[in-house]
Amino acid sequence: RILQVSSKVNSIWYPASSFSSSSVPTVKLFIDGKFVESKSDKWIDIHNPATNEVIGRVPQATKAEMDAAVASCKRAFPAWADTSVLSRQQKEIARLITLEQGKTLADAEGDVFRGLQVVEHACSVTSLMLGETMPSITKDMDLYSYRLPLGVCAGIAPFNFPAMIPLWMFPMAMVCGNTFLMKPSERVPGATMLLAKLLQDSGAPDGTLNIIHGQHEAVNFICDHPDIRAISFVGSNQAGEYIFERGSRHGKRVQANMGAKNHGVVMPDANKENTLNQLVGAAFGAAGQRCMALSTAILVGEAKKWLPELVERAKNLRVNAGDQPGADLGPLITPQAKERVCNLIDSGTKEGASILLDGRKIKVKGYENGNFVGPTIISNVKPNMTCYKEEIFGPVLVVLETDTLDEAIKIVNDNPYGNGTAIFTTNGATARKYSHLVDVGQVGVNVPIPVPLPMFSFTGSRSSFRGDTNFYGKQGIQFYTQLKTITSQWKEEDATLSSPAVVMPT
Ligand code: NAD
Repeated sequence: RILQVSSKVNSIWYPASSFSSSSVPTVKLFIDGKFVESKSDKWIDIHNPATNEVIGRVPQATKAEMDAAVASCKRAFPAWADTSVLSRQQKEIARLITLEQGKTLADAEGDVFRGLQVVEHACSVTSLMLGETMPSITKDMDLYSYRLPLGVCAGIAPFNFPAMIPLWMFPMAMVCGNTFLMKPSERVPGATMLLAKLLQDSGAPDGTLNIIHGQHEAVNFICDHPDIRAISFVGSNQAGEYIFERGSRHGKRVQANMGAKNHGVVMPDANKENTLNQLVGAAFGAAGQRCMALSTAILVGEAKKWLPELVERAKNLRVNAGDQPGADLGPLITPQAKERVCNLIDSGTKEGASILLDGRKIKVKGYENGNFVGPTIISNVKPNMTCYKEEIFGPVLVVLETDTLDEAIKIVNDNPYGNGTAIFTTNGATARKYSHLVDVGQVGVNVPIPVPLPMFSFTGSRSSFRGDTNFYGKQGIQFYTQLKTITSQWKEEDATLSSPAVVMPT
């Protein structure tokens, strides 16, 4: 069931029952099937990034509230795990509004739809949950395995995809029979609350999903709690590496999708028109706040001459509040994010790069207090520069140049991140060579943001991922399940053992 996205900037369309009636709405917790007001004395303001007005407040849940949420997951688990997989998969989940995040409405719809694709994939879980069987491994004996849920699992999400990333987590975990404790990003809790309401409306039993809010205390609570068996994390390396280590130390499975520096390699034989449009869209869409944003271009050989046209196209993008018609990119999430991005652009100038297009001073009429940065292109960038080494996570494209494909491949492979990359070419052998040699988890051939559909898995690698099974697809199901193997012997009476079998069975 798809609801309409609201276009009003100053109201937040959470489920009515998830708010109290105070003038600044407070986001409730979702515990044991109830939207409850937190008793916390620590609250975090939520801002509209286009105006920086406070539009709501999210609590840092108390220890007692977080304990109650895990206890609720734990209570709900046995009955949920025993519910037939056919009925678990029929829970409807639909979508949200993302005023808290700032991205354009069209992009927000993409956020929801990519998440819903995971939900749809979760509906095919029956065939993916099958175990294995081997009859007659010896006389009268059969061996078979079941794929079973783990118990209580937890998710910790980032701000940049308020719907899609929570939807990578709890639908997959829940169809596998787990119950789930979700901690959305404290900056964008609304979408998760709406998803919880829809899940509840669709009939999911109380306790199968619980939601807590908070920052470090909530994260530590999840990493340490003995009843939580697995943690799915998506966000920065700073948080992800910490959560991977702390969660693993406490015996949990952890999958952590983290930061990126994605390179688009442009060959001179590429379709120029297509390539430049794809590059500009993938560098600046969502104001560069996508883990798969193509934030680095490598122009190879004659493609170096395309730089002025690249700049012209980027110049034409319209920067505005996300709900304004025609907006191509919206604001950054916080004033601190804007300051950080501007400092990284400054570092480029100081370290000898050239700023060909500078979005630092942009003013958006009617949204003078917003966190806007316009499209920015930095050229003459070298791999040792700060603006190349750091993930900028803003509307900034850094451009490097090489004479050969081999040099480009070396640059990509020397970069620590392995999330995504793309090559633009009309030559199949070049495309094949690049896909084959590049050490990056997700490769696009003339596809700028190669995020796999959910029947595959999201396969970032190297510093972009910690863990051994990826998000969604078959790997996601492996992550949220464990195998039980049963060796079973049914002898007819006349075959009963006449003495103890003391040797190793063969
Ligand atoms: P973030 O790491 O700041 O926050 C993510 C979550 O971790 C939040 O729920 C937050 O409360 C918590 N957190 C933040 N700092 C923490 C700390 N020091 N210790 C413990 N917990 C902490 O990330 P963000 O700014 O919300 O998201 C942007 C980052 O996420 C970028 O680096 C981006 O590349 C990455 N990302 C990666 C993917 C992917 O699939 N690889 C997808 C989306 C975003």
